[in-house]
Amino acid sequence: MSRGKPAHVFAEHRRLADADDIRNHLFNGKNADTFAETSLKTVRLLSERMTLVERPFSGILPAELAATFDGLALDQPLDSFDAALAELDGLYLRDAVYFHHPRYMAHLNCPIACPAVAAELIAAAVNSSVDTWDQSAGATLIEQRLIEWTGRRIGFVGGQADGVFTSGGTQSNLMALLLARDNYCLKYLNGHSVQRLGLPVQAGRFRILASRLAHFSLQKAASVLGLGADAIVPVDCDANYGMSPAALQAAIDDCRHLGHIPIAVVATLGTTDFGSIDPIADLAPICRLEGLWLHADAAYGCGLLVSRKYRELIAGIEQADSTTVDFHKSFMQPVSCSAFLVKNRAHLACLTYHADYLNPLSQARENTPNLVCKSLQTTRRFDALKLWMTLRVLGPDKLGEAFDVVIDLARDTHLLLERDNDIEVLHRPMLSTLLFRYRPVGVAEPKLLDDLNSAIRKMMMREGQALIAATREGGRCYLKLTLLNPDTTLMDIQAVVDLVRRYGQGWLQARSCEPEALIRLTEAN
Ligand SMILES: *Cc1c(COP(=O)(O)O)cnc(C)c1O
Repeated sequence: MSRGKPAHVFAEHRRLADADDIRNHLFNGKNADTFAETSLKTVRLLSERMTLVERPFSGILPAELAATFDGLALDQPLDSFDAALAELDGLYLRDAVYFHHPRYMAHLNCPIACPAVAAELIAAAVNSSVDTWDQSAGATLIEQRLIEWTGRRIGFVGGQADGVFTSGGTQSNLMALLLARDNYCLKYLNGHSVQRLGLPVQAGRFRILASRLAHFSLQKAASVLGLGADAIVPVDCDANYGMSPAALQAAIDDCRHLGHIPIAVVATLGTTDFGSIDPIADLAPICRLEGLWLHADAAYGCGLLVSRKYRELIAGIEQADSTTVDFHKSFMQPVSCSAFLVKNRAHLACLTYHADYLNPLSQARENTPNLVCKSLQTTRRFDALKLWMTLRVLGPDKLGEAFDVVIDLARDTHLLLERDNDIEVLHRPMLSTLLFRYRPVGVAEPKLLDDLNSAIRKMMMREGQALIAATREGGRCYLKLTLLNPDTTLMDIQAVVDLVRRYGQGWLQARSCEPEALIRLTEAN
């Protein structure tokens, strides 16, 4: 250091002598080497980890994993990044659930594309917050362009479509019901503004109609919105597990007859369990005649927006007033990456508030793009970037083709399993999920079949060679395959079904001879 100059003049040019000083660990130009070093080590560990992942899950139980946390003192940091990374490997990476594995078939979690993971690093490092222009600049424009692109894919015409990225389908559905509720009050209750005045006296009678197979986030949303979870009226399905238009009309008539006030219909385009698609083209005219908001929950089925082969399955989606799309389910995107879109941007006004420090009214007059005006969130991650990078590198067709592959795989699986006399398949798949159960010849007692299949799922989780889900339909337990990985083959499926049989036979045998063995077999979570 030259004599005569104060230390702070040089501080920005060289690293501080004290290696532990927090200023040596901030992401900035001065610490570029540290950033590169820690990132490279992380990337190396992840690459190694991924080559080692032989099965989607280690099978560890919550109590077993919790025990590895014993004695950790969070007040006492480790002495290096390397040590923390090594520790994390044992606490988390080794026993994580890997959606990336071709035999992960449990829930609506897709494998993710490399450009999206790279984008996550950029989004985290640059750390834009897409709430106001002055915290995001180009990030806002990238998000906006993707919203426009999605709107065009949906088929919203007229240039009035708009929307915003959200944390997931749950938040998007909440926004949909909020807009439906507020719009109904403005339109039919003398301009009553729920935003300013709160719920009108009629709100206790508001009803929202949705397929009985719709997602439970609708109940949650209705509850949060002060309408109560019971405001969601389940509508019966047809033989393909899609909402029956006749049943919808009857349910609307019933509502009115009871003095209730239907305000919205939710069409699920891809139900979580069945992958079934409500016939939105037939539901839309009913909604129009009845003056009801139509929301399309395409959290899962949005993959069809980029499919050339199966796009027509969601024909009519453009007639919706609003749409939920989960890119983290069918666009190979890491969690979270979702969006909520409306056909008419004026409807988003009920989400707009102005704060002097953030997005003053004067900026609205100058047309400054402040996405906070359309979002429930304020500080918000730049989740659009990963979809942007994926589309710029791979293009939409490749994503669509991957979705086609898993749809075809589900259909082939259906044909395969239908031939087995010890497997009962519940439905012909529309998208990429399939419900079935193990029902060996001679076992017919319903409760026994439930216990058997639920035990199979537990044993599968305990061994971790493959992961599948379980759910209930008609009061009975079924196993569920959710196929989202284009790397999964019919051989993988065959192997999983063989496991189902093996676990099932083991359980039945243990049950008939030795209760102790049964307890050991099914102790898994
Ligand atoms: C997954 C899902 C949701 C909820 O989405 P999250 O992203 O998990 O919040 C809503 N609707 C349907 C049909 C879904 O499958």
